[in-house]
Amino acid sequence: MVTAKARAVDGPDKSFREAEIERRELDKHDILIEIKFAGICHSDLHTAHGDWGEVNYPLVPGHEIAGIVTDVGENVSKYKVGDRVGVGCMVDSCGECENCKAGEEQYCLKGNVPTYAGVDKYGEPTQGGYSTHIVVVEDFVLGIPDSIPLDKAAPLLCAGITTFSPLNHWEAGPGKKVAVVGMGGLGHMAVKIAHAMGAEVTVLSQTLNKKEDGLAFGASSYYATSEDETFEKLAGTFDLIINTVSAKLDINAYLSLLTLNGTLVNVGAPAEPLEVNAFSLIPHRRSFAGSMIGGIRETQEMLDFCAEHDIAPSIEVISADEIDEAYKRVMDSDVKYRFVIDISTM
Ligand SMILES: [Zn+2]
Ligand SMILES: [Zn+2]
Repeated sequence: MVTAKARAVDGPDKSFREAEIERRELDKHDILIEIKFAGICHSDLHTAHGDWGEVNYPLVPGHEIAGIVTDVGENVSKYKVGDRVGVGCMVDSCGECENCKAGEEQYCLKGNVPTYAGVDKYGEPTQGGYSTHIVVVEDFVLGIPDSIPLDKAAPLLCAGITTFSPLNHWEAGPGKKVAVVGMGGLGHMAVKIAHAMGAEVTVLSQTLNKKEDGLAFGASSYYATSEDETFEKLAGTFDLIINTVSAKLDINAYLSLLTLNGTLVNVGAPAEPLEVNAFSLIPHRRSFAGSMIGGIRETQEMLDFCAEHDIAPSIEVISADEIDEAYKRVMDSDVKYRFVIDISTM
């Protein structure tokens, strides 16, 4: 057993405190990872604050994990001590259902095991990456290509795959017009990845505050959704819209921007229902869809794609003592574009 240093919260309104957690003894296929960096995802805030239902506290969030292998179980074949590796939003699944067999473990019919706030096959609560070590079965560990620094690799494990997967599934590429709604942690990755895939990318953001960044990340145009003429001008334009916003939007206005057969994919998860008018879909055979992270194989593809195209998230590295402040800034949308905790400061 390894005792890991961690940062935990004890309740919805509590601050982070120092904690120690036990990581399990290595089973035959387990890997012990010394965590170097952990990204702060908006989901961490929602879970820590209890927004998405009851949570067993104390809770150690973190599902954007990058580190180094320091020990392996006797039957591990995919990784060895010293390898640079990552862990994303899930650490296990049944492995037997048709979705798991298809490499879509995130949609496991028995439910995947989330990296934190879940329960593993031993009946123990899972605790995430705001900690010095984690033990994960090798099938849920990703290899991080040498050219991606570990601090920048961390956010790829959630923000990267959450945007890569729908862009890949709905075939963003040359000749396709893609709009990205929202320019936060997810949105900025969607812009970079869609551009690298060869699509023509437009950002739809509330204001033009981040326009320069958006264009630098690869967008060819950038519009403010606070201006009504944006919707008039862009009506019927896009083959694919990736909505990264987790607040309630007038989804019908966004659907009106799709071309014939166009698809709007929600990756943001607003707490309130979105009201869809059937007539926003019917006349142009449009689709309204959702997508959740990606499978393990696809996550590896995404990491390799980012290395090949020299793409990485734009990050701000913080110390373990700055997590509370970072959470406040995430809520105020005051981050460019992802906070990453330097775990060595724990
Ligand atoms: Zn996340
Ligand atoms: Zn399954």
